[in-house]
Amino acid sequence: MDCIVFQHSFFLKPSKTSLNLTHQLGSTSRIRAWKLVTCCGNRNVNGSLPPFGTLETEITNEIIDFFVSDAEGDPDRPSPGYSPIEQAITALRQQKFVVVVDEDEIGNVEGSLVMGACHASEKRIGFMVRHGSGIVSVGMKGEDLERLKLPLMSPENEDDSSAPSFTITVDAKVGTSTGVSASDRANTVLALASPKSRPPEDFKRPGHVFPLKYRNGGVLHRVGHTEASVDLVTLAGLRPVSVLTSVVDIEDGSLASLAYLKKLASDHSLPIGDIGNGQDVLVRVHSECLTGDIFGTRRCDCGNQLDLAMQIIEQAGRGVVVYLRGHEGRGIGLSHKLRAYNLQDEGHDTVEANLELGFAADAREYGIGAQIPHDIGVHTMRLMTNNPAKFAGLKGYGLAVVGRVPVLTPITEDNKRYLETKRVKMGHIYGSDIQGTSPHFIKPTIKESNQV
Ligand SMILES: [Zn+2]
Repeated sequence: MDCIVFQHSFFLKPSKTSLNLTHQLGSTSRIRAWKLVTCCGNRNVNGSLPPFGTLETEITNEIIDFFVSDAEGDPDRPSPGYSPIEQAITALRQQKFVVVVDEDEIGNVEGSLVMGACHASEKRIGFMVRHGSGIVSVGMKGEDLERLKLPLMSPENEDDSSAPSFTITVDAKVGTSTGVSASDRANTVLALASPKSRPPEDFKRPGHVFPLKYRNGGVLHRVGHTEASVDLVTLAGLRPVSVLTSVVDIEDGSLASLAYLKKLASDHSLPIGDIGNGQDVLVRVHSECLTGDIFGTRRCDCGNQLDLAMQIIEQAGRGVVVYLRGHEGRGIGLSHKLRAYNLQDEGHDTVEANLELGFAADAREYGIGAQIPHDIGVHTMRLMTNNPAKFAGLKGYGLAVVGRVPVLTPITEDNKRYLETKRVKMGHIYGSDIQGTSPHFIKPTIKESNQV
């Protein structure tokens, strides 16, 4: 089965903090996502959206602004002391540092000073050396390391994602003496960041700057400072090369505590945020519907659901859309679906039509739809669906579903029978489990699907 994964790249962590990073599939996938939004937004040939008229009140209006609610206890509310991701991106564009924090379950904290490598200067590297461990690292993608012929220091550990992947160390040949001064190291960092640098004429090896290999997939693949830093500078529109150092207490050299990191950020007006952990991620597992998603048919609500799911993810700041191919017509294929449409025109409802053609009312299978979020690092998800079968089908693949977010789109004259059939015969829920901006709405208590 073919699958296309779209993922919005701005993460707002629901639980603890607002600066959060995500796996980035690369700029092409984001562009594809936005293209799809554009495509779905212009449904009719003349470019206008179809007229929606709400005909019944049985469907509860979707409230999506709870995602930006300031309500006390709202899990999406940024916790005090952390910065919105926009601030971090702005700071990086302005050639400033960002403090990235990684806190594990038992409270161990590690913080890094992070900046775009292309903005390295003597003064800035001096700041890093003064507040950091003394080791200046440069986060780089595999293709840049290959271009510069920088192999891993310990290739045998490449598969061990628990540790950072250091390559052999370097100094720039031009503009350096011993390689250790802030000025020398700034020149080395700039040389590593430059797409024009070439081995072996541009670098001495070993040296005093430590390149680190970025793992494709970013922080959702490996929750590491290397991945976070490269993801951040990429989001800021800079070349995907970061410079970073672990922050230590300037008094005794111990690893900086969270309080210390917050004070450092505050003293120097630096944004501070922590690395994502794949928890409570909004996930839409969308069944392919060519006629709805691309051509904007009014017979079904698929295209509107996909649009709305992307809008909700955008508002929430992070999330995953998995687009499952082969799910046309609830798994019967496009040509059979069109035949089913003909039967529907003759009076069958959507379920009867599938049965009449010799298929199950719903022939979809969701294993792959769960494995993809799992593979890209989602641990717990808030599933965006009205369909209890989907809710049940996506459990049990190493993923915990911690809540359901309804995806409620307008009922129209054209789709109301179809929606009503799904409600009556397939148990679709066109209402919120809990209304309003209550934090419980984010994590509704969902009973087993057969109870709905
Ligand atoms: Zn559809």
